[in-house]
Amino acid sequence: KVRVRFAPSPTGGLHLGGVRTVLFNYLFAKKHKGDFVLRIEDTDQTRYVDGAEQYILDCLKWCGITPDESPVTGGQYAPYRQSERKPIYREYAEKLVAQGHAYYAFDTAEELDVKRKEVPNFQYGLATRNGLRNSLNLPLQETEKLLHNGTPHVIRIKMPEGENIHFEDMIRGHVSFETNQVDDKVLLKADGMPTYHLAVVVDDYLMKITHAFRGEEWLPSAPVHILLWEYLGWKADMPQWAHLPLILKPDGHGKLSKRDGARLGFPVYAMNWFDAKSNELTLGFRELGFLPEAFLNLLAMLGWNDGTDQEIFTLDEMIDKFSIERISKAGAKFDFEKAKWYNAEWIKKQTAESLKLKVWEILKTNGVTVKDEAYLLRVIDTVKDRCVLLPDFYPQAAYFFQQPAEYDLNAVKPKWTDAKTDFFNAFIGILSSPETFDAAELEAKFKALAEEKGLKPGDVMLPFRIMLVGGKFGPHVFDIAKLLGESETIIRVEKAIE
Ligand code: GLU
Repeated sequence: KVRVRFAPSPTGGLHLGGVRTVLFNYLFAKKHKGDFVLRIEDTDQTRYVDGAEQYILDCLKWCGITPDESPVTGGQYAPYRQSERKPIYREYAEKLVAQGHAYYAFDTAEELDVKRKEVPNFQYGLATRNGLRNSLNLPLQETEKLLHNGTPHVIRIKMPEGENIHFEDMIRGHVSFETNQVDDKVLLKADGMPTYHLAVVVDDYLMKITHAFRGEEWLPSAPVHILLWEYLGWKADMPQWAHLPLILKPDGHGKLSKRDGARLGFPVYAMNWFDAKSNELTLGFRELGFLPEAFLNLLAMLGWNDGTDQEIFTLDEMIDKFSIERISKAGAKFDFEKAKWYNAEWIKKQTAESLKLKVWEILKTNGVTVKDEAYLLRVIDTVKDRCVLLPDFYPQAAYFFQQPAEYDLNAVKPKWTDAKTDFFNAFIGILSSPETFDAAELEAKFKALAEEKGLKPGDVMLPFRIMLVGGKFGPHVFDIAKLLGESETIIRVEKAIE
């Protein structure tokens, strides 16, 4: 059975690349009727950030992605938080030492600092490990004494000399590494916590993970992980790897980083993130007014397509069409204008009913009172095609509920003539007649009246719009008038020409 995992470290808000990793994991799992596991990789206490795990959970919830197993829902392989699995890992690290694939290292932070200063590009590994304080160099008795006395130490992997580690990545194809280039990574830290490298392998094994999707930035760690799978005797159960292409800055120069958002003027986080250390609030896609459906859709298209021109996909369609072969190797440039296009398309696709509560909330926040639900639904239907981000519903819908506070009078008055006043007075007469009109009839009457008064319909159309809306925007003006109703339309026209 297919089993995949999203394994974030709770170190801050979720970058859009992180959500894309969630999505690809989820699509693959659901496509193959498998399980999607959420595992919190919180073994690095120095990078742990309060609230980050909750943020991740909230984010998945917003996106409508429910893990089959997680720290909250539990599951067969619980616990799903690595800090709660601490006792599990030491045994494996010790086993590697006993086999000669790992060793104890007693070097203090100060000693290593000195080395780093002495040796340019210092790496703890093949070239340097002989001169350092570890069980490979120390006499056995000395090592035992140090261990017996509880001397702080870490366990490091001993990278083999002159080997070539290679594997088939589901996206990148054949990948290979020379072991001499890779340092002796710490596996177990002095506090007894595993590092990411040990924990990820042990847990992927124990949790029976079959396919591992993660960002391309993890590719350099792959040789260490592959060796661990081999040394621990689990090679046959190793998951298939899929290293996802990077999401690049809009100009294609380098990875889109968490810091880029503020500088480039668009969000990189899924939702607002408050960083307590810097006391800074970073804006998220959700709060900017993206729909989760649009957010997932645009993320999927950063590095994937179904081989046709189709760009708009529901989550179910994506599950249906998803295939790893169609994930590109090359990085995907992030284009915020395109992201907004997805959102606009998704707003158009929504029913008024499904947007109702969100729009009501936006109007309310801006001091607009909605009394009639049926009317709100008609307004949403009339303006939703003009909204790119959800807050656009405020300017686009507010004038249906309240008279424009101010007019763009310059657009009307300079060219204002008595003939126009005369026209609008007559038009009020038409509106006040007991007949009711639909939008097309009203338009026909409006045009006929203009002609009768010796005016071009165009001369009075824009003023009419400004009277109703307050500006040069909005849908077809007769649709607006119809929705406002005859009497409200009269009130606004009268007010404008008084
Ligand atoms: N804990 C790693 C991270 O924060 C997960 C990498 C992986 O999926 O192996 O991204």
